[in-house]
Parts: sequence; structure tokens; C-alpha cells
Amino acid sequence: MSDPSTLVAAAKPAVFWTDRADAPTPAEPLHGSFSSDLCIVGGGFTGLWAALQALEDNPGRSVVVLEADVCGSGASSRNGGFCDPSLTHGFLNGLKHWPAEIHTLERLGRQNFDDLLDSIDRFAIHADVQRVDEVSFATSETQLEWQQEESETLTAHGIEHTLLDQRAAHAVAHSPTYLGGLTSSDIALVDPARLAWGLRRAVQRIGGVIHDHSRVTQIDADEQRIRVGTDHGAIHAQRVIVATNAWAEPLRHMRRYIVPVYDHVLMTEPLSAAQMADIGWSGREGLADAGNQFHYYRLTADDRILWGGYDANYHWNNGMGPDYEQRTESHELLARHFFETFPQLEGLRFSHRWAGPIGTTTKFAATFGTKHGDRLAWVGGYTGLGVAASRFGAGVALDLVDGLATERSMIEMVRRRPMPFPPEPLRSLAIRTTRNALAKQDQTGESGPWLRLLDSMGVGFDS
Ligand SMILES: Cc1cc2nc3c(=O)[nH]c(=O)nc-3n(C[C@H](O)[C@H](O)[C@H](O)COP(=O)(O)OP(=O)(O)OC[C@H]3O[C@@H](n4cnc5c(N)ncnc54)[C@H](O)[C@@H]3O)c2cc1C
Repeated sequence: MSDPSTLVAAAKPAVFWTDRADAPTPAEPLHGSFSSDLCIVGGGFTGLWAALQALEDNPGRSVVVLEADVCGSGASSRNGGFCDPSLTHGFLNGLKHWPAEIHTLERLGRQNFDDLLDSIDRFAIHADVQRVDEVSFATSETQLEWQQEESETLTAHGIEHTLLDQRAAHAVAHSPTYLGGLTSSDIALVDPARLAWGLRRAVQRIGGVIHDHSRVTQIDADEQRIRVGTDHGAIHAQRVIVATNAWAEPLRHMRRYIVPVYDHVLMTEPLSAAQMADIGWSGREGLADAGNQFHYYRLTADDRILWGGYDANYHWNNGMGPDYEQRTESHELLARHFFETFPQLEGLRFSHRWAGPIGTTTKFAATFGTKHGDRLAWVGGYTGLGVAASRFGAGVALDLVDGLATERSMIEMVRRRPMPFPPEPLRSLAIRTTRNALAKQDQTGESGPWLRLLDSMGVGFDS
């Protein structure tokens, strides 16, 4: 096998999706003091969808987005582009945490997904949308058993899916690691940066104001207005939505519920026609494997393979920043796993390597909160499935600041926050212990005492 360290060292340390000549020019930073009806902090998918929906619902409303870096530069342009209708990080995780509302959550998720695709069409956003199936492969006997159990649960709830035997799994793509698989229906694959850029353009086109390089450092409220301050200005707003996801500044309260975990990605160079034929994969499905620690992978428009996941890293005290975006060990591990999955691609090189912060909660799905007499709402924590769910989160946050008791704003997922993470040093210890226990469960199939304890506390992940 090619040496993973040589391959990784040769890849460009940059996000493939944004490493393009046609990236938009950043908007002017905020200078001075202004008023607005709605101020949104953070210009990722959540912030941009909130702005777009606010302006569509009420064209007279003045909306300002303040973004610390450049809109979309956070998780929103660094992800795999799997746009999955689930609001709950998959059906099983939703069933585990919100059993009484699971069918409502599924329906709201499907509606949100359809509306998202409709907005992409209406605003002519060129996000390279491909409607495909999603296939998760069992690569161990344990995973085969898990998929069998999952299939029984899905059947009991009337959720469409197909269980694949080894032969059928190999018909999707050719890998010696596949023992079986489970196909779930209809997701979309998108080009995440082009989606973020298109949303940003749409917001500006219908009257929203965007300020890049405008980090919000302080939020204070009096009875009239909320002051949202940056180093060089302030917005005095009637309503505020904080959409910073994994970043818990400027609302430190969020860090009780959302922790940043860095997820790593490799992008290959384009495959030749012969290499494409060697791996099959003619349906261009969104693929993953079925462990707790899993890889996700997909093809791009120019036949590269995006290969990410598996080794997510939390850093002390919610550590974030560029230092964590190039973790050589994680990229080398990914490279090794890539060639174990597709040994026939020996000789293929990686063009890009990067990482991004996933905001996660103890229920592995979004959480919500309000402040200042419900004039401010915050949302985040979609974990690894926020491309579609961020639009839903944005809509709920708008309902919350507008005081609208809608079906979506009344669900338990919105009304009740998950168990908070403990402060450091327990936070690091708990996250490390959970990670090790999940890895062990992947090997042995057994839950072990730590995962059973978390389960009894309503904490944890069921993929
Ligand atoms: C590597 C990776 C792969 C992923 N793959 C998938 C996938 O395939 N499918 C899927 O559904 N999800 C995936 N996700 C998750 C998904 O990308 C996120 O859930 C989603 O993008 C969250 O959007 P957001 O707007 O809430 O957060 P972000 O996109 O992170 O936006 C938050 C924004 O807030 C800004 N900000 C922070 N602090 C401040 C401040 N003080 N003032 C102003 N602005 C501030 C940041 O600069 C950032 O732009 C992945 C995530 C990562 C990192």
C-alpha cells in the first residue's frame, strides 16, 4: 500500500470546496452603529437560512447577518454535503431520544428537506444537487447484526429501506470490506460551499445585509433593544438569533450544551474512467460504514472521492481554531482506511485535506434556547447531520423570537434541552471515555458499563 504519510503530506492543506477562483468577495465589515429588526450572529447555513426565511416571510423586515470570518467558512463549507432529511441524526437516534414524537419529527424533516430543495430551485442556487440513495455498509459481523436489528425496527415503524446481502452490497460498489449493507431512501448530495454562497447571494438579493469579518464580542439587552457589538460597531436589534453552532462565543451559555468536535476529510484527485469502472459505484450513492466510528464518502461532479469521518477529536476546554484543522495522525488514518476499502485504487493521490468543527450535544441532535425575554434565540448542535437540519433549526429559531407557537417550535426537542456537558476537566474525561467505549463496542459488539450508564441517563448516540 502507498505510504499514507507521503500521500497526506502531498495533499494541499485546504478545504476543497472553497479552494476555487470564484469564491465570493467578502462583504464589508460592520463599521458604526445601526438599527435592525433582526440581527443574526453567524453566517453558516443556520444564519443564512434564518435570514432568507425571515425576509421571505416578512419582506419589510430589516435583517443583518454578522459573520466573524466569511459566510459559510465554518462547518457549512467543510462538510461531506450529505443532505439528509433526518432532524435527529438518523431514525434510530430520534427513536431513542424522542419516541413519542418520532413520526412527527420524520414528517417535519421530510417537509423541511422538500422546502430546502424548493428554495434551491427558486433562487437558482447551483449547488450540484444529486438525488441519490444512501447506503451504509456492514464491515464486521457485529455491524451485520446491528443492521439486521435496525432493519427490524425500521420495518416495525414503516420506514422504507432495503437490507443488502454481501452480493447486493458489492453491486453498489466493489470493496473487499463489505459484508452487507442497508439502503435508505432518497437523500441529496450537495456542493456545500456553492450552497452557502448561493444562500448568501439570495439573502443579499432580497434585501438582507451581510457583514463578513465582524466577530460579535458582546450581546447586551435593555428593555427596548438588544445591542450586538463587534470591535468596530454595533447593531441595535429588536430580535437576535445566535447561529454560531460549535462556537460558543459570544453566548457562553451555549457551551454547556454544545461541544466542538473536529472531523477530518480527505479529497482524492479525479478518478479516471478505468478507476471508476474498477470500483463500480455507478449509482453514485452517498456511502458510509455502519460502526459507531464510521467513514462517509461520496463522489463529486468531477469524479473525486470525498472520504471523511471516523476519528473525531475534541480538544480541551472546547478548543477551536486553525491549529486543529490539520491533524496528521487523523488524516493518515483516513488514508490507510481508504486503501483498505478500495485497494484497487492504489496509486490514486489525495488533492486536499482539511477538518472542521462539528457542534454536538449529549443527544447528538440540535438544541435550542432563548434569552432576554425570548427576544433572542440560539440553536446549534446538529452533530454530523446539519446540512438540512440547519434550515429547520433556523425556522424554529425564527418562531421562537417571533413568539409563534407552531408545531415545530412546540416539539420536545425544542422545548427540553439535553443533559449539559460537565465542566472541565470532567468534560474531556467524559468525552474521551465515551469515545473509547464506542470504539470498543465497534470491536466487541458489547455496550459495556459506561455506555449502559449513559443510556440510562438518556445520553448518547444510536446511529
Ligand atoms: C467535516 C464535516 C463534515 C460534515 N459532514 C456533514 C454532512 O455530510 N452532512 C450533514 O448534514 N452535516 C455534515 N456536517 C455538519 C454540518 O456541516 C453542520 O451541522 C452545519 O454546517 C451547521 O451549520 P451552522 O450554520 O449551524 O454552523 P457553521 O457553518 O459552523 O456556522 C457558524 C458560523 O458562526 C460564525 N461565528 C462563530 N463565532 C462568531 C461570532 N462571535 N460572531 C459572528 N460569527 C461567529 C462562524 O465563523 C461560522 O461561520 C459536517 C461537519 C463537518 C465539520
